[in-house]
Amino acid sequence: MEQREHVQPETWAVMAGRGVPTVGEPLNVPPVLASNFTLGSDRSYSRDDATATWEALEEVLGGLEGGRTVAFASGMAAAAAVFDLLPVGATVALGDDCYQGVTGLADAGAAQGRWRVVRVGVEDTARWVALAGEADLLWVESPSNPLLAVADLPAICAAARSTKTLVAVDSTFATPLLQRPLELGADLVMHSATKYLGGHSDLLLGAVVAATDEHAEQLRTRRELAGATPGALESYLAVRGVRTLPVRLRQACATAADLADRLAGHPGVEVVRYPGRPDHPTHETARSFMDGFGAVVTFDVRGGAQRADDVCRSVRVIHHATSLGGVESTMERRAAIPGQTHLPPGLLRLSVGCEHPTDLWRDLDRALTT
Ligand SMILES: *Cc1c(COP(=O)(O)O)cnc(C)c1O
Repeated sequence: MEQREHVQPETWAVMAGRGVPTVGEPLNVPPVLASNFTLGSDRSYSRDDATATWEALEEVLGGLEGGRTVAFASGMAAAAAVFDLLPVGATVALGDDCYQGVTGLADAGAAQGRWRVVRVGVEDTARWVALAGEADLLWVESPSNPLLAVADLPAICAAARSTKTLVAVDSTFATPLLQRPLELGADLVMHSATKYLGGHSDLLLGAVVAATDEHAEQLRTRRELAGATPGALESYLAVRGVRTLPVRLRQACATAADLADRLAGHPGVEVVRYPGRPDHPTHETARSFMDGFGAVVTFDVRGGAQRADDVCRSVRVIHHATSLGGVESTMERRAAIPGQTHLPPGLLRLSVGCEHPTDLWRDLDRALTT
């Protein structure tokens, strides 16, 4: 089964990627631990020919996004494969608030003379639209990390439609449940499956979902040549993670919205950024095409870096840790990451997990007050 046309995403997340039910066989595709296969079929070596475990993940995610998925060893491997599609001398447009790994990848390639990088305000739709006719790749991370700026994907994708400009959306923060960029006209959607898709902070994995077979084939070739293949256990765990993604995300988004409102009323907090709040600069854009506002909340602690570090050290339910998208809530001060000079020093990024909202609020309130 390849198409999701007849069922809702919640159902697809549970039923896809299992193969044909066979008497006496397991319900789930097991982790296939194989580099090589007995010759005589179309599978001989897994780096070239994939395994049933990767394919299960690719089927589930492909159906959710509405495209053809190529799984990679990590989100960065997936991003690097997209950048590798560019000809030498290309122009890449990148949001001004963007995951630091991707910024690093873009800058490293620019330093080698492989391409030129142009930075764009995530919410500067007119600039993205203008670049849709000039650049070779628009790399649109939305919502952005960590300011949660939402780009006007419908307008940007529509503008690029009639040009040769490739639009790739890093949709890690949204997951396929909150936005589907391919339906809006994007060429590629990239995910760090390390985050919500895996959902349990126990693996590294990435994926690109392509609108066309041609792009999917080019990406598979990049994966093969760079050797950026997904692990068997990771792929198995990611499929298992996606099964519960709709349930986890629904809970986490509801809690995030609740915590964002409570934080906004807390005397220890200066600014709250959550796209679901009407005071967020891109709230209206988010409302216009997203099916939810996500489960990350960013806020500035009154008192700056020192005070924000204290808050991180005193939470007990929330983990003081990087990354996001797990069932366990995590929080960190993002300006402590090298290169993140555009961020207020006291900015904390909170990834809301599946704990009870009351316990999370008690934890935050106590940490902010003591
Ligand atoms: C984590 C992340 C990445 C990188 O993914 P890895 O799986 O860590 O390699 C890229 N983009 C965004 C938005 C991320 O959050």
